[in-house]
Amino acid sequence: MTVSAQRKQDMIQMEYASGFLKALYSEKVYTQETYNYSGVTCYIFKGTTDAGSAEKLVAFKAALTSVVEFGFTPPPVMRVYCMSSGNVQNRVFTRDPGWNAIYYITLGPTTCTPSSVASISNSVHPGFTKGHVTCIHELGHVLHAARLGENFLAVNAEGGCTGAPSGANAVQVSGYAGGAKKEFVAETFAGMVIGRTYSAEVMKEYRLYNGPEVG
Ligand SMILES: [Zn+2]
Repeated sequence: MTVSAQRKQDMIQMEYASGFLKALYSEKVYTQETYNYSGVTCYIFKGTTDAGSAEKLVAFKAALTSVVEFGFTPPPVMRVYCMSSGNVQNRVFTRDPGWNAIYYITLGPTTCTPSSVASISNSVHPGFTKGHVTCIHELGHVLHAARLGENFLAVNAEGGCTGAPSGANAVQVSGYAGGAKKEFVAETFAGMVIGRTYSAEVMKEYRLYNGPEVG
């Protein structure tokens, strides 16, 4: 399938302009560093008002290590942004204004701080901090987007990944997994990486949405 030109423009406006740029401009000044790990180059931008950026980067690096050690292959270049504004979500952006593939992760104030969201990152796992699991979840979105290409953002089209998953399967993963197919995939991915195993039905649905595979 192909994504229509109008749909691309709508997504660029909604995702990049209203989402990423708004988050980006929430910090006036960034300090930058580069992190290389296992063939992956991460350009890291730390908002100077974000007192939590050091803790977030510990969590992100731990997550990248966990994902690679599990056997997944992330895209070769990513960007990670640390922001303090309450408006910034933990979120992945996958297309730039020219519709080129990008893998930008924004980390807001809830990356390392538990909240009431019924997600895997907010449940307790010995050996894993909240931030570690949050970043594994976000890397799940990155790998899913890399696998699906522009269909990651397609709507109402065969091969797209929008709408809600099966409730009977999502409930086996987490409450948050039930909200959207993309979240079902990222939550299942995070669960797998931290050592959970899932039923054949859950894994069948994960593969139906082209969830990331080891390799
Ligand atoms: Zn998510």
